[in-house]
Amino acid sequence: TGLTEESRELVKRRSDLLGPAYRLFYSNPVEVARAKGVLLYDSEGNEYLDAYNNVVSVGHCHPRVVDAITQQAQTICTHTRYIQKGILDYAEDLLGTFDGPKRHAMFTCTGSEANDLAVRMAKHHTGNQGIIITEEAYHGNSELTAGFSPSLGPYSPLGTYVRRVPAPDSYRIAPEKIGAWMAEKVSEQIVDLQRRGVGVAAFIADSMFSSDGIFSHPTDVLKPVIDVVHKAGGVFIADEVQSGFGRSGEKLWGYQRHGITPDIITMGKPMGNGYPVAAAVMLPEIVEKFGRDNRYFNTFGGNTVAMAAAQAVLSVIRDEKLVENSLRVGKILRDGFHTLAKKYEQIGDVRGSGLYVGVELVKDRSTKEPDAAAASAVVNGLRARRVLISATGPHANVLKVRPPLVFTEANADRLLTEAEAVMASL
Ligand code: PMP
Repeated sequence: TGLTEESRELVKRRSDLLGPAYRLFYSNPVEVARAKGVLLYDSEGNEYLDAYNNVVSVGHCHPRVVDAITQQAQTICTHTRYIQKGILDYAEDLLGTFDGPKRHAMFTCTGSEANDLAVRMAKHHTGNQGIIITEEAYHGNSELTAGFSPSLGPYSPLGTYVRRVPAPDSYRIAPEKIGAWMAEKVSEQIVDLQRRGVGVAAFIADSMFSSDGIFSHPTDVLKPVIDVVHKAGGVFIADEVQSGFGRSGEKLWGYQRHGITPDIITMGKPMGNGYPVAAAVMLPEIVEKFGRDNRYFNTFGGNTVAMAAAQAVLSVIRDEKLVENSLRVGKILRDGFHTLAKKYEQIGDVRGSGLYVGVELVKDRSTKEPDAAAASAVVNGLRARRVLISATGPHANVLKVRPPLVFTEANADRLLTEAEAVMASL
């Protein structure tokens, strides 16, 4: 649909070369050629507003990150078996951003690896096997993490002792009841895991419940859940791959909005603004036995260039006050969608925090029946107008607006104007 001859050829070539497991966005996929800040350009020089990419969170090709990578690549790029100051300086800076007790930082290349390591450590530390996640969670693509990533779909098998609980759907459940309700659901799963003699090693969650449909409120949900998990001897892993590094606009880390202290925190995606770097950060007692019984080496994890990229990103987030920008511009976007909701019945709910905006589309406001077709029409309609977003949630009916954190008020206005035009044409 709407594909040019040249795009059709590229899509075919892609499928011939890369095989059938890859997916593309949009019925008319975009061939990207270059980017700057929040703008992408295709091979013909057409400009697109990027309102989706959370990896390049300080903006595409940020000069300070590009410089840091280039300088370091020209000096030395090697692994963690030598003494290097860069990794120590960055670890110190990063660890200083967490409240509470002193922690250690261990570096990986991807969020999947960070979660894989976190869960191995949780099992080793607790002596238990069970993993509890939310219904549509995504935590990674390795054998272990895919086993607790049900959003991969019904044909991707869950691990043996993996248990699911419903997500805190604030659109359908009274917000004041969610915390206790979720704690009860987690308790039931813990009892079952204990009856099977394996117990609970970890509850792992993304505090904004991104792939479950973006539920960043209420923020008193995780505390009662974690209390139950701790009481049963398990640990809490905060998967900050999406919610970390200022995305929520309120705090640097998403879990901080819930006023809790995770045992392990994992992060990735925006950490290097596109350079592969990720990490697990944990309380010393969690890694003590693991460290005695295992050695950890990750060839590329924590390499010199990765650390330079990550340091530049953290400095830019601070210097350009991007957490504050995320809060301010995120509110403008949500206010704008609330205004659209007055006019367009399909908008059932507007939610999120900072520059993470979820707009749930429904067939009928009283039944709240999800409308995936409308979401797809909006996503593809915006793409035709050169504004890039996506959709998420178990029914793919929640518009996912998640731009780089340097998104401006003018960018937000452009997005809202185009969104209105698309909504009007539905
Ligand atoms: N956790 C969450 C919450 C994620 O969104 C992702 C990536 N979508 C991952 C983990 C896995 O990260 P990676 O793709 O870097 O392995």
